[in-house]
Amino acid sequence: MGFNYQNIRKDFPILDQQVNLRPWTYLDNAATSQRPIQVIEKIREFSVLTNANIHRGTHTHAIRTTEAYENAREIVKDFLHAKEREEVIFTHGTTESINLVAWSFCEKFLSEGDEIIVTEMEHHANIVPWQMACERHHATLKVIPFSDNGELKSELLTALISDRTRIIAVTHVSNTLGTVNPVKEIIRVAHSHNVPVLIDGAQSVPHISIDVQDLDCDFFVFSGHKIYGPTGIGVLYGKRAWLEAMPPFLGGGEMIERVTFEKTTYNELPYKFEAGTPHYVGAIGLGTAIQYILNLGLDHIASYEHHLLTEASEKMKALGNLQIFGETPSKTGVISFQLDQIHPFDLGTLLDQLGIAVRTGRLCADPVMDHYHVTAMTRASFAFYNTSEEIDRFIEALKRIRSMF
Ligand code: PLP
Repeated sequence: MGFNYQNIRKDFPILDQQVNLRPWTYLDNAATSQRPIQVIEKIREFSVLTNANIHRGTHTHAIRTTEAYENAREIVKDFLHAKEREEVIFTHGTTESINLVAWSFCEKFLSEGDEIIVTEMEHHANIVPWQMACERHHATLKVIPFSDNGELKSELLTALISDRTRIIAVTHVSNTLGTVNPVKEIIRVAHSHNVPVLIDGAQSVPHISIDVQDLDCDFFVFSGHKIYGPTGIGVLYGKRAWLEAMPPFLGGGEMIERVTFEKTTYNELPYKFEAGTPHYVGAIGLGTAIQYILNLGLDHIASYEHHLLTEASEKMKALGNLQIFGETPSKTGVISFQLDQIHPFDLGTLLDQLGIAVRTGRLCADPVMDHYHVTAMTRASFAFYNTSEEIDRFIEALKRIRSMF
């Protein structure tokens, strides 16, 4: 399949264990991914040998840590194909990145009567911050719907955009439906109306090669823990012009140039948006995680995961009486489904008894649940370290649970 996944499994020791006396089968990668040993070792090495606060000290370890942190920024910049390192801000995750833009951008550019557009398939993290901004500024949230097969009705965008539209926020890949949205075209249409676009890349970065300059997006956000890196670290990419124009989000150390009681002036980019001690160990771990997947090759990862998705979808459909939510041709390795009338919580609990980890519930996407008139779903999501054998185990488990009901 382009790379040897038996060797890859050795990099993920957590996968080699039993849960409930069965081999553990981890199919909850869209919630969080596992970290390769290279990332764990990097963090350990840093914590054991080098830890010191960054950008503050003149001593050896402070300089080493600062260099490693800024090197991680360079890795992210190259990974996203951003033009300048100043356009890469480290945050605590996708949620914080979106909140940063929803606060700072809207503080400057959103007024009473203005509009923001999101889609019906967003994660709550890309709905609620915009809703809060609309409440603060007496603006309106508009929504691009999707059709029952999970495809975004992006052709409706032109009709939704008005001269009051100030920003569009759209997910690159849906965490529930797996749909890969035509973000480049959405950005093109938005820009033809002079409207900037934020892309939520939380579910796309682990699977799709990103070029923010080619996409021409204004903002792009993602989390470290979904791309085989640590928790508590994330990224906001923003075009320099927007970031320069936006006021700081959080105030404190590092984001300032000079503080007096009369007036404070702010630091230059990217530090203006990095108040306080950042999660520098997380950033360094994220840099290692990105290097790890680049070494595997994003194209190889994508084609292997596509193979897993196709195999799992076909075998699940062959079971009969199983509804898959989201069946667009352009899809990543996420399968949300309903088996017979078995409640997802029962299904998830019984799968766990058989050693299989899936996600159940509303998947942080209430509007998607409302679209299909369900209160919960079960979601299996794949990563490059999953195997055909694990898919077979999952299918056998579904059969067994069905026979119990
Ligand atoms: N956006 C999408 C599409 C997601 O899938 C998630 C997490 O599942 C988030 C945003 C929020 O990410 P985080 O919890 O890492 O901030």
